[in-house]
Amino acid sequence: LVSTPFHIINQALVQRIYRPRAAFAHKGNFGHALIIAGSYGKTGAALLSTRSCLRSGAGLVSVHVPEKSVAIMQTGAPEAMVLPDADATTITRMDYEPDPFSAIGVGPGIGTGIKTRFFLRELLERETSSLVLDADALNIIAENPELLNLLRPGSILTPHPKEFTRLFGTQEDDFKKVEVAISKAMEFNVVIVLKGHRTLVALPDGTGFFNISGNAGMAKGGSGDVLTGMLTSLMAQGYSSKEAAIMGVFLHGLAGDFAATARGMDAMIATDIIEHIGKAFE
Ligand code: AMP
Ligand code: MG
Repeated sequence: LVSTPFHIINQALVQRIYRPRAAFAHKGNFGHALIIAGSYGKTGAALLSTRSCLRSGAGLVSVHVPEKSVAIMQTGAPEAMVLPDADATTITRMDYEPDPFSAIGVGPGIGTGIKTRFFLRELLERETSSLVLDADALNIIAENPELLNLLRPGSILTPHPKEFTRLFGTQEDDFKKVEVAISKAMEFNVVIVLKGHRTLVALPDGTGFFNISGNAGMAKGGSGDVLTGMLTSLMAQGYSSKEAAIMGVFLHGLAGDFAATARGMDAMIATDIIEHIGKAFE
């Protein structure tokens, strides 16, 4: 029998990772997640990540958004605490200590403006816990590749194929892409979630896990923002980056499958995925 470094993510595997909530638990047992997301016209990305983070078990959720996005966040996600940026329309400054947060997810809808680039560099330099990096955070890193060396071990990167290409170049086919994902995960000691129809979770130990849940109804704007919130929530609760990535991509896809059953693949939207996270956990 030939042993391969590749595995399948299915329900049996995720059930071994999942930890049920103890009866006497209080919110302090489930961590404090921070989502850093949004810019003018893209507050929706922040809202989707924050709502999915709230729906995935974190004890407390804070969200750092541009000042103009504050009212939208407070009405759209009243359970979350909002940290307004000094700037009206973009993310530019950390006016708080990153330390109290047990996990931070950064990137959805932040844009790649110069001030936001400086902000991301500062975050990577100061932050001591693991990060979930997605979307424009990855696009900023792609344009400043030296930032890859600032990543804390165990951080999770969640590129879709285009973001992956921006980060690590064009590969001749998907087999090569998988190889590169694994080798970059090893090189930078991070988890790389290469998103797609069969999302790959590439681990720093050189192994890869392919997800089997999810459907083409998820091929719509906002789906990835939902995953970022879920992964950040799981990391905040103390799941390792490996556990969070494996469990997160599976539950995200499963929630998408329930959303497709309820709404149909054509009509379903990212909010429907969030609405079915609960059923996926069950
Ligand atoms: P993003 O492109 O950042 O919005 O991320 C899209 C999300 O939806 C990822 O988690 C993908 O795995 C998922 N997704 C997109 N298209 C499909 C598909 N055809 N089958 C399964 N999952 C998909
Ligand atoms: Mg995305």
